[in-house]
Amino acid sequence: MKRVSLLGATGSIGESAVDLIGRGGFQAVALTGGRNVARLAEQAVELGAELAVTCFPECYEELRQRLEGTGVDVAAGADAVAQAAAQPADLVLNGIVGAAGLQPSLAAVRAGATLALANKESLVCAGPLLMATAREAGAQVLPVDSEHSAVFQALVGEEMSAVERVVITASGGAFREWPLEKLARATPEQAATHPNWDMGQRITIDSASMFNKALEVIEAHEFFAIPPERIEVLIHPQSTVHALVGFCDGAMMAHLGAPDMRHAIGYALHWPERAELPVARLDLAALGRLDFAAPDPARYPALLLAQEVMAAGGLMGAVFNAAKEAALDGFIARSIGFTDMARIVEAVMGRMASQTGLNNDMMTLDNVLQADQMARELAREAMQKTSEATG
Ligand code: NDP
Ligand code: MG
Repeated sequence: MKRVSLLGATGSIGESAVDLIGRGGFQAVALTGGRNVARLAEQAVELGAELAVTCFPECYEELRQRLEGTGVDVAAGADAVAQAAAQPADLVLNGIVGAAGLQPSLAAVRAGATLALANKESLVCAGPLLMATAREAGAQVLPVDSEHSAVFQALVGEEMSAVERVVITASGGAFREWPLEKLARATPEQAATHPNWDMGQRITIDSASMFNKALEVIEAHEFFAIPPERIEVLIHPQSTVHALVGFCDGAMMAHLGAPDMRHAIGYALHWPERAELPVARLDLAALGRLDFAAPDPARYPALLLAQEVMAAGGLMGAVFNAAKEAALDGFIARSIGFTDMARIVEAVMGRMASQTGLNNDMMTLDNVLQADQMARELAREAMQKTSEATG
């Protein structure tokens, strides 16, 4: 039995993982969540977990009461989440949303567990640090993001030296066909509907702005150590081809599947084996066609910002992600408009670029957290100005 911990168990990725783990073959070690304490308690009992942790100290008492007499240990707070990630386990799946996932990722690999990583922010903020920590500890990192899992699978048995390019696909999100001039007035509700994937609110809005794809390009760069100019983004409205790898002989290996995260999660949970998974099988004849198009940079400025992040390297990923998280909060709170998000992030990157200490050899956890904090403050300042200017 594989001993597995689940971070962010109550989220969209977490629930899909709970579904797969509940089908058998695993021993649940630690489950973590946030405000949804009722569901976390239910999951812990359902899976027979040893420990349940909420990242919010104020939710501790409710979790304790709900799990009283069940034999499940209870803890709360960000440090307790990182400690949960370090509990002896074969595999830790990180489905936390945002930069809050970084410390638990580091804790898991330091403890030597295989890290199944849905939390792309860990790699965007601190890719070199996370990968070096994993290497030192002899821990394996497995991608759970669907595109990266697809690339990982296409690379089985291949030499990286034979890889010419990696192509990750994007649905184009909720506004793929909106007139550009309408985008500034898009609401959070409109942005939070995805044509194909059923995901958490934040990543769905990030899909509409393609900040999600921007994060994924950086994630691919950090995880596979591929230079930026060899990573391409392709709009593919059907979300059936998740990624393609192009080789030096002109061949391309594509990964196809239904848009169901249980495939990528299941692949990581069972790796290095393939197990039967409860996902829909593709009927290509019924689908009939697969469309592809190049993304329009005017519609998706986040993609250009990702190029700047990779060119700058060092702590710019942490800056980019933190500014994006703050801008997304602002958009969800209706303080700024949809198209303001990219402008805010660009402005913060510009101001942070003049800071010293943004280079690679300075990458310690403290520096990453400090860059993250500074970028959030600058983003809030910039948003304040934007909302004042627009009244
Ligand atoms: P959700 O918002 O659905 O879930 C997030 C989880 O993290 C919840 O369990 C939540 O708890 C918990 N959480 C929230 N804030 C914190 C915090 N500060 N510290 C620790 N835990 C916290 O997100 P998703 O499942 O959509 O996404 C999770 C990650 O996976 C993201 O990095 C996303 O980019 C990535 N991903 C997601 C995909 C998807 O299909 N959803 C696809 C590919 C990647 P609670 O809800 O109880 O408050
Ligand atoms: Mg993805």
